[in-house]
Amino acid sequence: MAALNGIKVVKLEMNAGGNPFVVHASLLFDEHEAILVDTGIPGQLELIRNTLAEESFPFEKLTKIIITHQDQDHIGSLPELVAASEGRLVVMAHELTKPYILGEVPLVKSKVLATPSKVDVTLQDGDVLPYCGGIQVIFSPGHTEDHICLYHKPSKTLISGDALMSQDGVLMPPNSSFTLDMNTALKSVAKLLELDIETIITYHGGVCTDRIKERLAEIVDGKNTMK
Ligand SMILES: [Zn+2]
Repeated sequence: MAALNGIKVVKLEMNAGGNPFVVHASLLFDEHEAILVDTGIPGQLELIRNTLAEESFPFEKLTKIIITHQDQDHIGSLPELVAASEGRLVVMAHELTKPYILGEVPLVKSKVLATPSKVDVTLQDGDVLPYCGGIQVIFSPGHTEDHICLYHKPSKTLISGDALMSQDGVLMPPNSSFTLDMNTALKSVAKLLELDIETIITYHGGVCTDRIKERLAEIVDGKNTMK
């Protein structure tokens, strides 16, 4: 896990049905809070627990979880994490994500109901959460209609979720196979140009620091080739 300023990448390597699968969750922390952003697929409680412990963040230190959107590889282990904390963990998600997490509405892609969990605090575009030096919520629909990105102000780091992806450190547009409305998704990427971003953590691909502003502009313009 790369250490950034108050942010760590929580790299979760797994084997999903025989296929190697890696996702990059994030951990935001200061002296009061340790906030996990996204939770992998179902069944990853122990993997998350061990990965956090390796970085001197025992599970018991975790205070909150923020979910970027409803997809199963982001909400998967949320019910297990909440149960393991005996409900202590505060769960935050966009108001549009909440009914999916509660298991009230079938997930848009898989059409199944998620294992019900809870949402304690609903988020909206423009919210600045007063944790870890300030975390700005950016509503970024397109990949799914409920997607948010998070901007960690002190480290100028964007947690992009699936609004962007990356390959070998090169920022790429969201994966068209899994993005429901690419037009809207690219409009959401355009919103990110307003931010002063030095680092982007993509859930699928990991950390990008190279040519961020240029790549964001190229992606918005439809120039999606590598370099
Ligand atoms: Zn997704």
